[in-house]
This record gives sequence, C-alpha cells and structure tokens, in this order.
Amino acid sequence: GISIRNLSKSFGDTAVLTDISLEIAPGERVVVIGPSGTGKSTLLRCLNFLDRPDAGTLQLGDLSVDAKTASRAEILALRRRTSFVFQNYALFANKTARQNITQALIAVKGLSKADANRRADDILRETGLTARAEAYPAALSGGQQQRVGIGRAMALDADLMLFDEPTSALDPEWVGEVLDLMRRVAEKRQTMLIVTHEMQFAREIADRIVFMSEGRIIEQGPPAQLLENPQDPRTKAFLRRVS
Ligand code: ATP
Ligand code: MG
Repeated sequence: GISIRNLSKSFGDTAVLTDISLEIAPGERVVVIGPSGTGKSTLLRCLNFLDRPDAGTLQLGDLSVDAKTASRAEILALRRRTSFVFQNYALFANKTARQNITQALIAVKGLSKADANRRADDILRETGLTARAEAYPAALSGGQQQRVGIGRAMALDADLMLFDEPTSALDPEWVGEVLDLMRRVAEKRQTMLIVTHEMQFAREIADRIVFMSEGRIIEQGPPAQLLENPQDPRTKAFLRRVS
C-alpha cells in the first residue's frame, strides 16, 4: 500500500495538485476518475517522482519520502517499489518483447541476465506472449504492446502498480485483452492505482473510486456509492457526461 499526505505540485504559476491525501491499503484497487487536465497523470507521476512533487510525503512500507528533502537514494528506493504502465506503452523500440522485460529486471532489480530471462519466461507465459517473445514492438499489435508494458511492470513485483489510462490509446478491438490481463493482476491482490475512463471496468475492479477535479480529491467511495449516489455537483456533472 501507500500513504500519500498533503501532496502538492505546480507547473510554473499553475497549481496542478493541491493538498492531495490518499491512503491505499495493501491489496487495494483504487481507480481515479475526473475531467481532462485535472491532474490525474501528474498525481501518478508524482508518486514515483517522474514529476517531482513540491510538497508532501509518501510512505510505502518502511520507506518514507518527503518531497522537500528527498535524496537520490530515497527516490531510487521509491522507484523500485512502484511500477508504471503508460498510456502509450513506452516500450524500447529497439528491444524485443522479452528484452523489454529483462532490461527492467536487470536495471531496476539488479538480476543477472540468466535470472532475468527465467523471470521473463514466466511473465511472457502469464501475459500470453510466449509466441511473440522475440518480436519487436513495431511487429506487435497495440494490445500485445500494452501486454508487454503490463508484463514489464508485473515483473518488478512492486508494492504499488500505477496505470495511466492503459487502454485509451488502443483500437477498440484490443481493449478487452488488456483489461483481462489487468483483472488477472488484480486477482493476485496486487495494490493498484488506476486512471481509466472505462467506467464499467472501474465499477467491476475497484474497491474504491476517487473523483478528482482541478487538482483536488472531491469525493471517494466504493463504486456503487460513488457512481450511483455521488454527493458533489462536480461529480454528478462528470458522471452525466461520461455515462
Ligand atoms: P487527461 O485526462 O487529459 O489525461 P489529466 O487529469 O491526466 O488529464 P494532467 O496531465 O495531470 O491531467 O495535467 C494537469 C495539468 O497540468 C494540465 O493543465 C496540464 O496542461 C498541466 N501539465 C502537465 N504536465 C505538465 C508539464 N510537464 N509542464 C507544464 N504543465 C503541465
Ligand atoms: Mg492524463
């Protein structure tokens, strides 16, 4: 799990995240929804310092990181405990599916090449990509590329997996297989923080849905409560637009 306290982030004069606090229990699946430009991606990126937060603290297990004083070593430790699935997959174009997975294991986890390959074999099997292991991203479908992206994140055995709209760049025909893989990840009680516009999927997978608007958490609750009985007018308006 993770404990996020009083996280804030500005770009120049623009406050993008304002005083975000969120507790995610180990094994919990939390989905973040909200209008475009509201800071959902920035929130995820701040959690592993892809964007550096201006203020706030993050706690993962025994690791506590204060944004204002975070050392290089603390940031690396934080990155080892989180993994990120990007909207546009962010695969290395010059590496095969297998190499995209082993590279992460070697670079982030310090595995030997042999151990990384063994672990990659398991991941390729779990993601249904064994037959495509030696293919480069350009030769893979969008769905296969994102399954490599998820496989790479799974391989890291992170305390927290972050997903930023993992299906929104996909042709509709590939969305189902990626959501299926995420369901399988969820079944392992992996802690997941997911930004998605797939409301049906959110309802099904989430223990809790968080609604953000203009850099703040407006309200949150179990899917049935948040989706069927929203309290804040901004949540109501957003749900009317997306449903
Ligand atoms: P979407 O649903 O469209 O993905 P989002 O909720 O993920 O939106 P963010 O991408 O976090 O929103 O952006 C929040 C705000 O921060 C936007 O106004 C955006 O333009 C701004 N922003 C994001 N990244 C940067 C950056 N690197 N430099 C300057 N402004 C940025
Ligand atoms: Mg975004």
